[in-house]
Amino acid sequence: MRGLVSLLAFLSLLFCGLVISQPAPKIRVVTTTADLKSLTEIVGGDRVQVVAIMRGDQNPHTVQLRPSFVVEASRADLFVRIGLDLELWADQLLLSARNPNIRRGALGYVDASVGVPLLEVPTGPISRAEGEVHIFGNPHYWLDPANAKIIVRNIADGLRRVAPGQAAYFEKREQEAVQELDRLLKETVKEMEPYRGTKVVAYHKTWSYLANRYGFKVLAYLEPKPGIPPSGKHVAQVIRLMQAEGIRFILKEPFYESKTPDLIARQTGAQVIELPSSVGALPGTDDYFQLIRRIIRTLVTAFAREKVL
Ligand SMILES: [Zn+2]
Repeated sequence: MRGLVSLLAFLSLLFCGLVISQPAPKIRVVTTTADLKSLTEIVGGDRVQVVAIMRGDQNPHTVQLRPSFVVEASRADLFVRIGLDLELWADQLLLSARNPNIRRGALGYVDASVGVPLLEVPTGPISRAEGEVHIFGNPHYWLDPANAKIIVRNIADGLRRVAPGQAAYFEKREQEAVQELDRLLKETVKEMEPYRGTKVVAYHKTWSYLANRYGFKVLAYLEPKPGIPPSGKHVAQVIRLMQAEGIRFILKEPFYESKTPDLIARQTGAQVIELPSSVGALPGTDDYFQLIRRIIRTLVTAFAREKVL
């Protein structure tokens, strides 16, 4: 009998031990973009399991929904999006996923743009009649590390809402992320300092926040309006402007066609700079910090070469 009691005591201790040592299940996070996935992993550490719907080498405005995305969203604890009209497909995704945890306004819904000072917010009447995007203001705000600090706070708030027991962990990681972003800002602003005021043209209005932070000027776009492909007439105007202003650089993301930028480069002698706009768009952009460093290094190298010539 005594043996049985000790055996039972031993087994119950073992059971308790097993229960206590069982790690808490990871919080399942679905993000729309690879940049949000990277920032969520930075804040969430080993407590999160993150899936991004988009790859960094895709145009965020035109991603096609796939059934596998709906499956991921249907079992998520937290959903993180850039918001405004970057991912026009995200609302359909939430509707199809039928997951009350992440519907708009639920504890597990994070719009990362909350609190971000927006650029290019239209003041007149807005319309999507011609297929235009950016009707709520420019949604490419993640490319300024100062805004990444706001994104990190919004993600950390979301994680604390869905897992209040782990709030202290996320709080600490949020503070560390903000400090690291401050270091990144200081370092990159210094690197770009000699090139303040450099004039460029760009394919799409992707770089407004980046240009605003680092002091270069985007004077024209190959798209006549965001989301509308370049036309012959518009390209001729861009070429005239580049010649008049002495613009030597054309910025484009890897997922846009090269024909138009190459044609303009041939006619103006400008160089085409392929810049990654999201994590994973090009090799060496595996997380948010690498992405920003790669962008700045690419710009500095191109701008410096032109300065020497
Ligand atoms: Zn855009």
